[in-house]
Amino acid sequence: MNKPLLSVVVPSFNEEQNVEPFYFALKEVLDQSHYRFEVIYIDDGSSDSTLSLLQRLSTWHPQVNYISFTRNFGKEAAILAGFQHSKGDCVIVIDADLQHPVEMIHELLDGYEEGYDQVIACRNRKGDNFVKTALSKVYYKLINKVVDVQLEDGAGDFRLLSRRAVDALLILSEGNRFSKGLFSWIGFDQKVVHYENVSRQNGESKWSIQKLINYGIDGIVSFNLKPLRICFYMGGMILLAALAYIFVMLTQIVRTGIDVPGYFTIISAVLFLGGIQLLSLGIIGEYIGRIYNETKKRPHYLVKESNATKGKRYERIQ
Ligand code: UDP
Ligand code: MG
Repeated sequence: MNKPLLSVVVPSFNEEQNVEPFYFALKEVLDQSHYRFEVIYIDDGSSDSTLSLLQRLSTWHPQVNYISFTRNFGKEAAILAGFQHSKGDCVIVIDADLQHPVEMIHELLDGYEEGYDQVIACRNRKGDNFVKTALSKVYYKLINKVVDVQLEDGAGDFRLLSRRAVDALLILSEGNRFSKGLFSWIGFDQKVVHYENVSRQNGESKWSIQKLINYGIDGIVSFNLKPLRICFYMGGMILLAALAYIFVMLTQIVRTGIDVPGYFTIISAVLFLGGIQLLSLGIIGEYIGRIYNETKKRPHYLVKESNATKGKRYERIQ
């Protein structure tokens, strides 16, 4: 019988220090398994020598494929490109920076053989700074109350997906892809395996505070309309409170006549309402922005060059 094929998708953005060490670590692990494998590196518009290292690596190692984007399209686009070009019976998404321990692949494959369609490698937060850990905890507590899919702290993109799970993801055609939510949205039987957090050895993280905040907002508005509903309720409650206030003031005026001092009340009402209106507009704007982006139907990424054969050059799934 033919050995099953495993595709390993590796988003890489300015990872010149990691491309080769990662591949050799990965190869060592995969050589011990009974899978054939292909590795799909996605060079996400790197400005360092990542691409030339990949070209070199692929000439010596036929299992190595690379897709190079014309610019930095982001990790989500890179993962999508990897899925679209993958031919494996199952696919693993893993970071190039060795922060996702390659040895975990054995456990992921075990889960796959047990029949799970998604085997998720979940990290703890050892070594992360205290503020980041605390903020993430609060964020995930809150977000899981608001969104319709379950998002788990520590469960990122490092996971194995069966072919049918990958195909399910490829049917989802949205332009703004929030992988964490999409993985959860498709469902299927899932198994979680845990590993100890590893700090980055080479290069630096591409996550700035700004990017993290944007990612947080994506998480909230990509998967539900509840924030809009909250605006609706807030508006309703404030309207009721205002009506009650007007009623009280009117009865007071009828009873005691017009009372001029009212500076504090007016200013507080104006500021409070102004704040709420701006917040609501912002939330509505987020959704409208997304609709605008979706209507443009732009491709998720453009390919500058690639040695992978499957898939179109300018991909947009419909
Ligand atoms: N990455 C990418 N495109 C980007 C940013 C990151 O392909 O725009 C890749 C990066 O090369 C790495 C993985 O995504 O392999 C995770 O990135 P990073 O290590 O910066 O994130 P962190 O581990 O800090 O969450
Ligand atoms: Mg990293």
